This record gives sequence, structure tokens and C-alpha cells, in this order.
Amino acid sequence: MAHQQEVAVSKHIVKRLGEDGVRETMDSLYAVDCQTCNRPLAGTTASLVVTDLMMFLQAELHHRRCRKSEWNDSGLVRSSGEATLSHRTLTVLLPWSNNTGEPTTMQPVFILNPGLESVFLDRDDDGRWRVRLAERFAHAGLVAGPQLTIDRPVPEATVRLATDGVAVTMENLPPETFLCRATEQYRAQVRARGGVLFVVTHALNPDAVQHQQELLDVLPDSRTVAGWVPLAEVRERQPRKAAPSNPAAAGTTYVLHRSPRHLTVGPLLAHNAAALTLEQAQQWAEQVIGCETLIGWEPTVDGEPASGWFNIDFISVAQYLLRQYPDGWRLVRSLSRVDGGGSAETDNEARVWADQVIKFREQVSGLQWMTGPSPQGATTLYATA
Ligand SMILES: [Zn+2]
Repeated sequence: MAHQQEVAVSKHIVKRLGEDGVRETMDSLYAVDCQTCNRPLAGTTASLVVTDLMMFLQAELHHRRCRKSEWNDSGLVRSSGEATLSHRTLTVLLPWSNNTGEPTTMQPVFILNPGLESVFLDRDDDGRWRVRLAERFAHAGLVAGPQLTIDRPVPEATVRLATDGVAVTMENLPPETFLCRATEQYRAQVRARGGVLFVVTHALNPDAVQHQQELLDVLPDSRTVAGWVPLAEVRERQPRKAAPSNPAAAGTTYVLHRSPRHLTVGPLLAHNAAALTLEQAQQWAEQVIGCETLIGWEPTVDGEPASGWFNIDFISVAQYLLRQYPDGWRLVRSLSRVDGGGSAETDNEARVWADQVIKFREQVSGLQWMTGPSPQGATTLYATA
């Protein structure tokens, strides 16, 4: 809660987020490091900056002297380009009863807050802005607190024991490991049970927990996901089943398209260098997409041929873009699109926007964008993960 810290919040943010949205945002942010200069926020006035990324929002804390509080819907995302986000972990043994009448056991729990000074928000079914965890945790198989079960392991994470701690590794791409110190008693329980209960939440700062009840209260919170993470050696003894659930894979090429009234980014699905007619290209694209529930091709933006053709699968709601380039046709799945123009005045603004979208949707960062073949009247940048 930017707790015990003075935080400036602009009137515009209050108006757009609503009182409830501001309360949930402030209750999910912790004033550790400034997201502009990366120096401590303690002892100064912080400011809340909310950036509208079209499908979702990002709320961050900065020094007020580094950045004033504002609702940023300019389409211009400012980023220092370095890692400023802090995370915190905690290992604790919690009493656990699975409501089957079996005796309560001491469960090793590994708690992670993956971003203390920055959270994403999107709208719930009632139109209220809610703090959300980055999608990679759900992709790994973690579920919202109320659906939590410890009977089966999540598919995409493992835990390892170290000399004086434990390490949880998220194996969906790109892999990421979170470390925490742990007592001998805790490590013995991890060995005995064959894993840990991994709890990922924006609802508390693991460094500031004082009572066991705070941890139990976090489990049903909408800002929490959790799952059973097995020891690596236990996982290795079991056959691996599920294919990786994260659609982003190494080698994926992302295409960023900017034309006067259309901005979009997404992974390249296929390129066809043959001289196809529009009809042939659309048939080819449908074969590549390989599903029978497309609604049909439409101009992406009326009166702007450079933005190409658009289709949507009405079951999965996946969106596809088909465009003609000097070297053939390309089919791209859209991760996010902005129509109407004015949202990115320069290639650099478009790049920063695309980086944020890809980071949120696919957990891929550090992309190097390069110019490449473009439809007439558009600029196209390419980056390979
Ligand atoms: Zn600063």
C-alpha cells in the first residue's frame, strides 16, 4: 500500500480508475525503488503514474521529483530501459488441512510478490479496474486461490534445494528462477513432501509479514495465484505430459506494423513469397490458421490498404492479420491493435508500446527491432525472440 509512504495521485487518475480502482492499486504497490531512477523511494514523496496500454493499464511508483503523477494515455510509454522492478520472496511452514478429516500438516509455502512498485490492471466483468498478475504465472499452471488444489503439480515449475535456501524455477519461456533463504526444518519438509506450495501475489509484501494470518488471508485474494510445485528430482521421475502452454517460444519473430491509422504487433505465423492473388493468399492463410471458425476476411482499416486484411476466430477470439509485402504475403496473429492513429507518432514510440504488449502477453522482453519489408504506406519492424 505504498504503505506509510506519501504518494501523489493526480485527479485524472482518480476520475479514470474510480475510488475502488485507486484503493486496490495503492493497496498493491510498495514503495521500494523509483521506476525512473531505480533509487530508494523511502523518505520521499512518491507519485503514481498510470499508463493506458489500450487493453490493460500499468500502474507504477516513481519519485515525485523524477516524474509527476499522471494518467498517461498519450500512447507514449516512457521506460528507463533498465531493470527497476523489485520482487520479494518468503519461505514459511503453514498449517494445512485439506478438509478431508486428515490431520493438519505443516506445508512448506514459498511466497513471491513479483513486482512491488508496478502492477497491471484490467477490467473485470463489472467494468471495475482490478490488479492482475502477469499472465506467465497462469501459463505455468498456477490458479486463482479459491481453485487451489495441492493434489497435482503445476506443469511448468519446479523447486530445487540449495545449501541454505530453495529455488523455484518457472520453466515456461523465458525461464526465471526465484530464490529464498529457508531453514533446515523447512528444507526437511520440502524433502518429505516432495515440493512446495508456490503462492504468487500482489496482495502483500513478503518482507513485511508479521502474522501467519496475513498469509492465510492472501490465498483467496483476487490478486493471488498458487499451485503445487514439485521437487525437480520428483518431476524427473514422472513422465512429462503437457506441451509448454506458453505460446511464445524461442525463435518467434514479432512483426510491428505502423501505418497512419493502424498500429499492431504480434508473432509472425507464416510468410509466403509466391505471387498470390488476394483470394489465393486468403486461402493460404486459412490453411495456416487451420481452424474452421473464422468469421471471414475484412479490410483491417477501411480505406487504408497498407493495413491489409483481418480475420478473427470466434471461438478462441484470436485475431489474424494478412498483408502483402514487396517480398510476398505475411500472416500475423495480433496481440494488440490500436486503430485511428495518433497513438504512436514515431517508430520509437511504437517500439516501446510493442515491448510492453509482448512483455505482458508473452513474457518476452529484450527484443531488438529492425526495419524490414513493409507494405507501401506503412513501416514494419521485426524482432526475433
Ligand atoms: Zn527517481
